[in-house]
Amino acid sequence: MADHVVTLNAGSSSVKFALYAADEEWPRLIVSGRVEGLGAKPRFHVAVVGGRASDIPLPPKLTHKKAIAAIFEWIEDAYPGAAVSAIGHRVVHGGLRFASPVIIDAETLAQLRELISLAPLHQPHNLAGIEGACEAFPHVPQVACFDTAFHRGHAFVDDAYALPYSYYERGLRRFGFHGLSYEYIARRLRAIDPIHAEGGVIVAHLGNGASLCAMKGGRSIATTMGFSALEGLPMGTRCGQIDPGLLLYLLQSEATAPEELSRLLYERSGLLGLSGVSHDMRALEASKEPRAQAAIAYFIHRVKIEIAALTAVIGGLDALVFTAGIGERSPRIRAGVVEGLGWLGLALDAAANARDDSLISVSQSRIPIFVTPTDEEAMIARHTIETAGLSETVR
Ligand code: ADP
Repeated sequence: MADHVVTLNAGSSSVKFALYAADEEWPRLIVSGRVEGLGAKPRFHVAVVGGRASDIPLPPKLTHKKAIAAIFEWIEDAYPGAAVSAIGHRVVHGGLRFASPVIIDAETLAQLRELISLAPLHQPHNLAGIEGACEAFPHVPQVACFDTAFHRGHAFVDDAYALPYSYYERGLRRFGFHGLSYEYIARRLRAIDPIHAEGGVIVAHLGNGASLCAMKGGRSIATTMGFSALEGLPMGTRCGQIDPGLLLYLLQSEATAPEELSRLLYERSGLLGLSGVSHDMRALEASKEPRAQAAIAYFIHRVKIEIAALTAVIGGLDALVFTAGIGERSPRIRAGVVEGLGWLGLALDAAANARDDSLISVSQSRIPIFVTPTDEEAMIARHTIETAGLSETVR
């Protein structure tokens, strides 16, 4: 019987899961779902591939551990034949140590706990997910897959801040995130267009969180996010690029408390902050408010600047890929970004762009432009199968 793996992505108030069969080159999705509203009124939603979506009743005020136990109970009931051979976890931060997925043991877990201060909003929840799954399945291998790992091979100039060198040595570096998405896209692009995939590629992961990654030969060379997931592009509620002097001003001259500053930068800025309307690109595109339109213009402007900068880093562009919610589904944003970059050799096919086609450049475009849906869960499942050594046939 085929091996099955479960992926878990535990956030502050939700746990997402997916069940895969490891019987094809890419793991085959069977069912996915999420428990939301942990600690309050939880909702448990599942969607069976090619089947129905449904809501499962849950008791109130669940902890992460209880939510995970409920997920595994449901899987065992619904798929009694699907023995779970390994569990893969999304872990936001792998620090300097973890440049690839790893089987979790007590030592690894302790090392991951040491990284909590680097990602206090995500890492504790990721670890709660791991602890819950270890309790439910103590004898099944658990694999940690990191958002930072794909970027760990960066050269010093793309890894450092110009602080005293001892800060670099202490690990205060540009880690980068969204690595599971970029790795998935790199592998997909190899299947879609193997020649361009080997060249200089920029992937624009534009979702609620947004970043760009410049690759060569399918490997990350540079990315717009840095020490934290605040750097680079403006996002749904995060500020992106900012002058550190402005932060000093807020701390010193306006006596802003650190917690308040954190809320400002992570939760009240970006598209929401600029527009005063919404963090959600769909809502901004539908809005007639001038500030909503200004927020969109700002977003497009920053994406263009960063594409040009990353093109310089990789010495020329061979393909551009849009992915994640905005990248996959907003013709307007893609057109806005590409419009100003004709000088790079990008030419959009307006009709293909309007249809969200997988290739949206005209045939004369020197550089192909792709729209490629990302799938971080599938990447976690594949890493889990490979790392746990479940299938010799899956490469
Ligand atoms: P997350 O980073 O939370 O995974 P997603 O990748 O799902 O986010 O992206 C969410 C963003 O995608 C939101 O800003 C949403 O408005 C935007 N989005 C989704 N569909 C569309 C659409 N059809 N047009 C414009 N924006 C869209």
